[in-house]
Amino acid sequence: MPLSYSQLQTYQRCPKQYEFAVVKKISRSISAGESFGSSIHNTLRRFGELEMAIDGSGKREKPLQLFTEESTHDMETELTLTTLLTLWRECFIAHGYASKVEMDQKFAQGERALAKFFDWWNEKKRTVVCIEKSFKFPVAGTKDILAGRFDRIERNEEGLHIIDFKSSNPRPQESLDTDLQLSVYALASKTIWPDPIAKLTLLFVTEEGCIEHSTTRSTSQLTDALTNIRLVAAHMDAKDFTATPSIEKCRHCPYRSICPASAI
Ligand code: SF4
Repeated sequence: MPLSYSQLQTYQRCPKQYEFAVVKKISRSISAGESFGSSIHNTLRRFGELEMAIDGSGKREKPLQLFTEESTHDMETELTLTTLLTLWRECFIAHGYASKVEMDQKFAQGERALAKFFDWWNEKKRTVVCIEKSFKFPVAGTKDILAGRFDRIERNEEGLHIIDFKSSNPRPQESLDTDLQLSVYALASKTIWPDPIAKLTLLFVTEEGCIEHSTTRSTSQLTDALTNIRLVAAHMDAKDFTATPSIEKCRHCPYRSICPASAI
């Protein structure tokens, strides 16, 4: 079985959480944050798939239509804000919220955030390489295969622009330089496309606007990332599930009610 990047991420967060989720397969309820994040991701995936279906190269064949209440444009062929918000209604997951009031607030927040996404997307013509594409590549020096998925890749004059959607608050720019997820994307991209990687971006889709935090990866940074992946995989193989509690991590952990090591 390939090692998925999300499992690697869970193990890095806390080996005990990985043991609960992946080894013991203890079911848990979805949190409000996960529900909201999945709803946004699913909406953007379907919008991107429509974008590609209109023209395999991602070019829009028809002019964009402005949103009006009377709009009756064919959703199959028109990439409009109306279409995007219709997809949001269809993709919204109504689970994990403490009350209907909270759910309605998050639904409205999602609408506002996606309207900002539409503005960002509509700024220029985009050439889409792939949407929600799975990847697998062997981790050099191990028997492991690492699997994951790209959210969206565009191509520009400089090369590939790898974009990962985030529905959370923006992280500091400095944290991107050591972000393992972005390094994994860079490593995976090199196994699939010969194109250079122009930039790696976390795109924070928020009510205030879409915030692009971008970075690149040097050869030595990718070598360091592979070393890091090998180290984590070795600990996983050795079944080292030592808890690494902290108030911040345990506060968001779905297993804190059953974990003897929880910090809260
Ligand atoms: S509650 Fe804390 S220590 Fe326990 S699994 Fe979750 S993150 Fe790890």
